[in-house]
Amino acid sequence: MNRFDLVKECFEKQAVPAERPAGLPSEYFGELVFDRAKMKKYLDAQTLKSLLDCIDKGHPLDRKTADGVALGMKEWALQNHVTHVTHWFQPLTEGTAEKHDSLIEYDGKGGVIETFDGKALAQQEPDASSFPNGGIRATFEARGYTAWDPTSPVFIQDDTLCIPTIFISYTGEALDYKTPLKRSLKAVSDAALPIVRLFDPEASKVYSYLGWEQEYFLIDESLYSARPDLMITGRTLFGHNSSKNQQLDDHYFAAIPSRVAEFMRDLEIAGHRLGIPIKTRHNEVAPNQFELAPIYGEANLSNDQNQMVMNLMDKIARKHGFVVLLHEKPFEGVNGSGKHNNWSLGTDTGKQLLAPGKDADGNLMFVTFFVNVLAAVQRHNGLLKASIASATNAHRLGGNEAPPAIISAFLGKTMTDVLHKLLELPSGTPIEIAGKKGRSLGLVEIPEIFVDNTDRNRTSPFAFTGNRFEFRAVGSSANCSGALTTLNAAMAEQLLDFKAALDKETAKGKERNVAIMDALKPIIASILDVVCFDGNGYDEAWQKEAARRGLDVQTSVPEMIREFLSPASVEMFTRTGVYSLPELESRNEVKWETYSKKVQIESRVMARMAVNHIAPAALEYKTRLLKIVKLTKEACGSLDGCRAEMEMIDRINHDLADINARVDAMVEARKKANAISSEYEKAVAYHGIAELLPPLRKSIDDLEEIVDNSLWPLPKYREMLFIS
Ligand code: ADP
Ligand code: MG
Repeated sequence: MNRFDLVKECFEKQAVPAERPAGLPSEYFGELVFDRAKMKKYLDAQTLKSLLDCIDKGHPLDRKTADGVALGMKEWALQNHVTHVTHWFQPLTEGTAEKHDSLIEYDGKGGVIETFDGKALAQQEPDASSFPNGGIRATFEARGYTAWDPTSPVFIQDDTLCIPTIFISYTGEALDYKTPLKRSLKAVSDAALPIVRLFDPEASKVYSYLGWEQEYFLIDESLYSARPDLMITGRTLFGHNSSKNQQLDDHYFAAIPSRVAEFMRDLEIAGHRLGIPIKTRHNEVAPNQFELAPIYGEANLSNDQNQMVMNLMDKIARKHGFVVLLHEKPFEGVNGSGKHNNWSLGTDTGKQLLAPGKDADGNLMFVTFFVNVLAAVQRHNGLLKASIASATNAHRLGGNEAPPAIISAFLGKTMTDVLHKLLELPSGTPIEIAGKKGRSLGLVEIPEIFVDNTDRNRTSPFAFTGNRFEFRAVGSSANCSGALTTLNAAMAEQLLDFKAALDKETAKGKERNVAIMDALKPIIASILDVVCFDGNGYDEAWQKEAARRGLDVQTSVPEMIREFLSPASVEMFTRTGVYSLPELESRNEVKWETYSKKVQIESRVMARMAVNHIAPAALEYKTRLLKIVKLTKEACGSLDGCRAEMEMIDRINHDLADINARVDAMVEARKKANAISSEYEKAVAYHGIAELLPPLRKSIDDLEEIVDNSLWPLPKYREMLFIS
């Protein structure tokens, strides 16, 4: 099929109606999850109690309980036509891993029966050697295993019972994203609790909350399959800008096209059945770009749900004749996709730690945590950037769209003023921060309207938005754990230090509020003119200013990643128990290796497409032009009548020669890079290769501009971006 047939076919495609279940979302919400309601229904009283202790109090799961749970779970699963079971985990690749086992066993009478016991529920040994591990198992134990994480509910996908698990080596090193995330959740809870208890003695646990906003592109699957670069690398490696892209801002919040709307409906229904509280759907800024967001929830669960949604999107898009692109920058010249991580902390007594309180006491607690977040972000700004750095997100960071490759925090005017006022108070003042219900002392106040009316700065990578921080630098294809683990660990360390400083003030005989203020003030003084930045993050002047302030301005991904091994990072992660040094080292090996491989693949695909797709089309067109020149010469005896054609031939020759030279140079560079044994140095070399791609693209895009449209073999931007 040629390009025009593909395009015509896309235009003619009809919307596939979503499968609407009977009843309202509230009726089918969570029906495919073994949630607390199902636990009550399917488990005996003793098993239920033991399991809830595992979930709520972190008790270990014993075999007897596991057997009891498996029994009830099996009954529920069989009623839902489940035939297979899998441990569902999040290795250091993109996406999730699953290995399905049928539930059947011989019954000893020549037939089979369905079986499922506590052992199958609690633990499995997948062939761990095929997952990235950065050499960790060479150093430690060869085997790895998956173990059920009872805080993540079991769910059903198609005919399979999915058991969310952690994935660790036999000696306990984390081989996945979930294990360190869980450690960081505990670390931040343990560190925050003694401070929370100064205000709320009833609190016994601090939760991290996550509300992710998933951006994505949809592209018609026939056009997608005609673009090898999209299929293999997830992004277009070339393509001339469409005459119209997002300059009219007419896509954002516009009416959703019906084919897309049906896809979204199906996705929402599937999500709701899996207990994922999908709430928002809308068009994004770029053409064919969309966003989906749930109601926020406990971070571990919400992150699982994001992984589930990413899987669902992929499957459901196919049904509607689309492919979903989760790559951070599938198309040059229009916005890329991120995944805002809305993050906050709250207690098991229902208090939000990053939202203004109801009274002066609540406001002091809020300001305490607020300031400590900023301090943690300042201390580890380079590391937080490293936590979101990847070969794919690199195309988005610093590309004059959210966010720049510098981590700063946006506070908004109200909170900036509050912090300045607090600094001005003389030491020893028993401060009261008036709020909704507080009596105003005329000193420091957080007005009620502020909560619903926080100003926005879209250029900030880490913005306070009234009751949470929005970490906007996270990439659309990323596992949120990478960013959340670092953020929580950094916060835990900061809170430990803050508590120590506070204890010193208290030891001087100061009352609680005075001691807190005296411990906070030096921190406030140290952050206001460093990490806090409300200006335009895209402004070039900010790069210089940020460097002057001592913020990390590194733009090379392999270098950013090194930050994980800096003494400050190692100290922070080991002290909070989130990563051991060998884990950090091995993870960096994986990150560098992944970076190199991604660039390697892109550079190969680009070279092959240039030679096999682009050059032949250009040569074909050149042949036509040459024929015109030849005929003109024959007919008119001179070349005067075909100057334009000759100029075009020159341009084609020039572009083709440039392409050839650049492809050769890339091959040479890859050869050299491949010979390097250190993963870090190899990644640095591949970073150099990544920089060879844009100039090669330029020549290809130039050819696209002149070659006859009917000869161009690949779907163009204007076709890929405007059909749905
Ligand atoms: P916007 O586009 O304005 O950022 P959205 O509605 O698209 O807002 O997404 C906001 C996300 O933040 C939602 O997932 C929402 O549930 C989440 N959120 C709201 N409050 C909190 C909070 N306290 N902690 C974590 N996430 C939150
Ligand atoms: Mg947002």
